[in-house]
Amino acid sequence: MTDWRRFAEELGDIPVITETALVRQKSRDFYWYSPILKPQLDRKYADIVVCPRSEADVVTVAAQCARWRVPLTVRGGGIGNYGQAVPLEGGVVMEMTALDRILSLEEGLLTVEPGRKLIDIDADTRPLGWELRMHPSTKRTATIGGFIGGGSGGAGSITWGGLRDAGNVVSARVVSCETEPRVVTLTGDAVSGVNHAYGTTGIITALTVAMAPVQPWMDLVAAFDDFDAAARFCLALGEADGIAKKLVTAVAAPLPEYFRGLDSPPGAHLALAIVARHGLTAWDDLLRRHGGRETLRVASDDTTDGRAPIYEYTWNHTTLHALRRDKSVTYLQSLFPADRQLELVAAMRAAFPDELMMHLEFIRVGGRVTCSGLPVVRFTTAERMDEIVAFHERNGVLIANPHYFTLEDGAGHKRVGEDQPALKAEMDPFALLNPGKMRSYRAVKAERAGL
Ligand SMILES: Cc1cc2nc3c(=O)[nH]c(=O)nc-3n(C[C@H](O)[C@H](O)[C@H](O)COP(=O)(O)OP(=O)(O)OC[C@H]3O[C@@H](n4cnc5c(N)ncnc54)[C@H](O)[C@@H]3O)c2cc1C
Repeated sequence: MTDWRRFAEELGDIPVITETALVRQKSRDFYWYSPILKPQLDRKYADIVVCPRSEADVVTVAAQCARWRVPLTVRGGGIGNYGQAVPLEGGVVMEMTALDRILSLEEGLLTVEPGRKLIDIDADTRPLGWELRMHPSTKRTATIGGFIGGGSGGAGSITWGGLRDAGNVVSARVVSCETEPRVVTLTGDAVSGVNHAYGTTGIITALTVAMAPVQPWMDLVAAFDDFDAAARFCLALGEADGIAKKLVTAVAAPLPEYFRGLDSPPGAHLALAIVARHGLTAWDDLLRRHGGRETLRVASDDTTDGRAPIYEYTWNHTTLHALRRDKSVTYLQSLFPADRQLELVAAMRAAFPDELMMHLEFIRVGGRVTCSGLPVVRFTTAERMDEIVAFHERNGVLIANPHYFTLEDGAGHKRVGEDQPALKAEMDPFALLNPGKMRSYRAVKAERAGL
């Protein structure tokens, strides 16, 4: 039995949380989106939460966990999906939100501690002419460390691709989980080792990311009578190289009926977009050619009427709006190949007309515009979900399955090419970091030891 009181005492003045309700609250994320994961993760709690204030504190906590051989799960805002930040084997949850300083902003390169919220980063850097290249729809609550540890892309990915694309995340300072932790700096391709690794390969204490020049963004919504027309419009907008844009989303009826605070015509299919003000004439022309009717046009930073920013109806917020009204739905994450994206979107809709409500995020992948699907699914059974997934995969649509909590089973096309198990072997020799999330790790360790 671990003596957690002594464990906390040995941490000196590093703040800890031991109150059961709060420890339980900080052991959760948004895994409950999945009716399959919910019963598996509902009762997985940490024993203690530790809140470091500096990299030196992180080193102290990592050393202590290694000495005591207790699991260590890192947490940012706790807004991830699929139980990324849920401590499967208890132990320590380390909340990083007090490491929130901006360290430098030079020539479009931002160096920042991992616990800073994305919304605060943009608030600080926009007056200086720079903004984040991309952010998840959880910009108001997510941290930059959690985004890089567990996210993949978001608003901005139509221009800059995903987090995994070279040049977006430039370097990371990472602490190992050893009795004498090392602090290493990963740069270039090596950053992939901690990108979308769920905190299994090291603890990020600083990140350097490339920024984008600030644009005068406009939130836009257009209604269509036909979803295929909305999707064709979105693809054309995505491919319109002369229009500066940050978000291009297509949402099929009846999903807009779930959108509280965004009035849309009954039965309409929607295109939601963020486009620079200087692109509005081109937007008008494109919309007219595709038969859409504009229903919202407002400066993105104008939320004086209390409205939610348009990105909070997109990405995984679309699912959240549906779940708030109907607890029986869930979702999938797909990626359509760039050469046949709209043909395959139509085929998936036709195959599951009653179960799948289509939602597409247009993004750049490998220099080409395609779409990632986050369809809302009417859930019946895990077996039926497997059938839907298998049908997608048989037809060449990639799936990152949000109903699994391991990297190998769930991360799919979001996983980066880098050899993350090899980095884990170096940074986490006792397999204490977020145990259970990298299924393949034991095999690699055994192999390396010649077993
Ligand atoms: C409504 C909703 C909408 C979403 N929309 C998007 C979206 O548009 N795009 C997208 O990519 N994701 C999206 N997500 C998933 C999630 O919100 C984002 O990935 C977000 O960036 C997570 O940030 P966080 O600070 O809450 O991270 P957490 O949930 O706290 O952590 C995420 C993962 O990163 C690891 N981690 C956290 N900090 C560190 C660190 N310092 N070092 C190493 N590992 C660390 C954690 O261990 C965990 O595995 C959405 C989720 C919800 C619920």
